[in-house]
Amino acid sequence: MSKCLKQALKGLLVVCLTGSMCYSPAYAQQPDNANDPLLKIYRATATRVNDLSHTKLDVRFDYAKRYLYGKAWLTLKPHFYATDSLTLDAKGMDIKTVALVKGGKNVALKYTYDSTQLHIQLDKVYSRTESYTVYIDYVARPEEIAATGSAAITDAKGLYFINPDGTDKNKPIQIWTQGETESNSVWFPTIDKTAQKCTEEISMTVDKKYVTLSNGKLVNQKNNPDGTRTDTWKMDLPHSPYLFMMAVGDFAIVKEQWRGREVSYYVEKAYEPYAKAIFGNTPEMLTFYSDILGYEYAWPKYSQIVVRDYVSGAMENTTATLHGDFVQKTDRELLDNNNYNESVIAHELFHHWFGDLVTAESWSNLTLNESFADYSEYLWLEHKYGKDEADAHSLEAGESYKQFAQYAGDRDLVRFHYHDKEDMFDAISYQKGGRILHMLRNVVGDSAFFKSLNLYLKTNAFKPAEAHQLRLAFEEVTGEDLNWFFNQWYFGDGFPKLDVSYNYNDAAKTVTVNINQTQESGKIFQLPIAIDVYAGGKKVRHLVTITDKTSSFTFPYTSKPDLVNVDADKVLLADINDQRDLNTYIFQFSNAPTYLDRREALEACLKEQANPAARKVVIAALKDKFYGIRSLAIKGLSLSNDDVKSAALPILQQLAKDDKNALVRAAALKQLGSLKDAQYSSLFEAATKDQSYAAAGAALTGLASLDVDKAYNLAKQMEASSRGALRNAIASVYARKGNEDDVAFFAKTFDEASGQEKVEDAIQYITILANVDNADIVIKGIGQIKDMTKAFNNKMVTNYMVNMLQPVAKRKLDKATIAPADKKADLMKQYDYIKKVITELKD
Ligand SMILES: [Zn+2]
Repeated sequence: MSKCLKQALKGLLVVCLTGSMCYSPAYAQQPDNANDPLLKIYRATATRVNDLSHTKLDVRFDYAKRYLYGKAWLTLKPHFYATDSLTLDAKGMDIKTVALVKGGKNVALKYTYDSTQLHIQLDKVYSRTESYTVYIDYVARPEEIAATGSAAITDAKGLYFINPDGTDKNKPIQIWTQGETESNSVWFPTIDKTAQKCTEEISMTVDKKYVTLSNGKLVNQKNNPDGTRTDTWKMDLPHSPYLFMMAVGDFAIVKEQWRGREVSYYVEKAYEPYAKAIFGNTPEMLTFYSDILGYEYAWPKYSQIVVRDYVSGAMENTTATLHGDFVQKTDRELLDNNNYNESVIAHELFHHWFGDLVTAESWSNLTLNESFADYSEYLWLEHKYGKDEADAHSLEAGESYKQFAQYAGDRDLVRFHYHDKEDMFDAISYQKGGRILHMLRNVVGDSAFFKSLNLYLKTNAFKPAEAHQLRLAFEEVTGEDLNWFFNQWYFGDGFPKLDVSYNYNDAAKTVTVNINQTQESGKIFQLPIAIDVYAGGKKVRHLVTITDKTSSFTFPYTSKPDLVNVDADKVLLADINDQRDLNTYIFQFSNAPTYLDRREALEACLKEQANPAARKVVIAALKDKFYGIRSLAIKGLSLSNDDVKSAALPILQQLAKDDKNALVRAAALKQLGSLKDAQYSSLFEAATKDQSYAAAGAALTGLASLDVDKAYNLAKQMEASSRGALRNAIASVYARKGNEDDVAFFAKTFDEASGQEKVEDAIQYITILANVDNADIVIKGIGQIKDMTKAFNNKMVTNYMVNMLQPVAKRKLDKATIAPADKKADLMKQYDYIKKVITELKD
């Protein structure tokens, strides 16, 4: 699964509100409480008594009742020891029949059912060479499940009816499923464990106006006399029950081919023209991943579907990945997306090797799925957009992990004690795991890394695995013992904090690098790293291994080094305190190669913009080859310094007009806007036509600071086609004007928005409501915000909205205090209502 809601929301909220944090204390998973009895339980891998070999389902749906009427034929055999009983997971079902299929007939079997598990007494003792098929007639009732959710999955109904009565005119009618972690057993009886793998066949009977999607190939479609159609999907390769999926609805299907196999995108019809802009790199990803792994994509097709109200980010159901509707974007919106969508698409696809082909044996080993999917984002960005892009993504992921560890406490990557299996879907399994794989790649080298992954896949294909199997593959390929690496990073927690200092001996012409490990845990890390010594126009690389609390390495030189670059490949997951002087950073910016080298040097120079040499670096960074460095330089400019201003302004204007990256144009326009200088008025006006909403929005904001009436008139013209950052900018222009009539547009767009887009629209809506004095309009609007927040039912969203509403309440109160008597009552009414809503949401 990709990008828990928290992470998906982060992508969105960062766009709306600069500086917002994903893992602030209010939102983070709580630190483990040592006295928690659940943490004392050793989470053993479930015993395999029986193994599923085939699942055949025949289902139809009752939209009014939110029921699924199912028939299941499960073929199994004992795993090793003979047995006369079978236990199946079947959550909240109404069980009609349990029988053994024998000689073409159903022979009733004795069973007990406790609403979560079905205990079946077989007709005899079966040995491991004897397979048998049980038949179960059942009704699945997902709405009647008392589901408990968590960070990654906000609830666990397994089967979701979206707008089943069609009462919401802005929402399509859909059905879709979500299995991970153990929720598919809500809609079909199974052994809902990752270590089970079986082939699958699903027949879905649906209204013929709908299309269906499931795993594998669509092998048959049959029109029925009653106006329904039965679609049969077949998956001939074994995979785990949590990866089974179904979706039903009114989707446009856009098809491509890859090596003779169907690659398809199921989107809402309005997004059909954009399907290839969103998903079009999928065939290239299939080629790229198949090639670097030396293991061709194993499955018969690859479909991706976008659904409404999805409870997480996206899910790698085998051959039928399901995405939340945040990926549905127009080509204009994609300009500002910063490859966020594409990272999600890459993540889910890579699961088709790591997760779907080789599957984590239990949730304790979840990182075998998620660290690889996380790291696949790096691999794809590196391949497609260059190492700088990948390194920037990696830095952000590492920071997410460190913030998580700070607030929620660190844990082992592989851990057999956890409060709830859903807690495994955290920044440790994902982002920390991804960074650990990046270090492993650096330790063994690219060639050995991909060869080891190939061996791991070949050895464990269509089977479950645990972290030791990964270690064994790496050890076989490299011929080296890697227990030290796995014990340190997989079966241990924490990350190193390093203090780096240098001693130069001019007489002996040597430099000594001192590295102290200062992490409070006292755990000492073994860290192989490269140290590059730059001197006399040359770079010499030294490979060393840090093994002690204090390590020192001495290198000779002929002329005094300009830079000693510790962890020169910038791969360590560590906090490194390496105080270099400004001259070293200035040298580093133009001589050390990686994004992190340049970023670190630029950050140092941004603090010293009065210094001519540092300023030169800042100005050079405005023209850096990577947009992330250009953006950072733009945002950090001290335009109050006249020297900076005169050097930067001509470049900023150029960047604002024609930088090829939308986010750079937007950042340049924002900086120019901060000057409130009338000479840029026509530049801003022209840039409001920028295809990028971020750039157009920054331009409109800049214009509004010079001429609010002109900006208002432009906003009125652009209103209908606006989205994202442009809509935010329009909202603030309207907020400044404070016209009640302008609220209608935001009330309407808020109504029509769905999913995470609704949260973004809420922020704009609240901005306007804060500035409007009409009590009826404000109370109606705040009521809509309240209903949305309640429907979302997510702690992070609720906290966010409460934090947005509090200053609005205060503003109304402040206004009331100084208002004339006739308006006071009206404002107090708003204040009281907002306070009431805040209290209600907090509960
Ligand atoms: Zn994932």
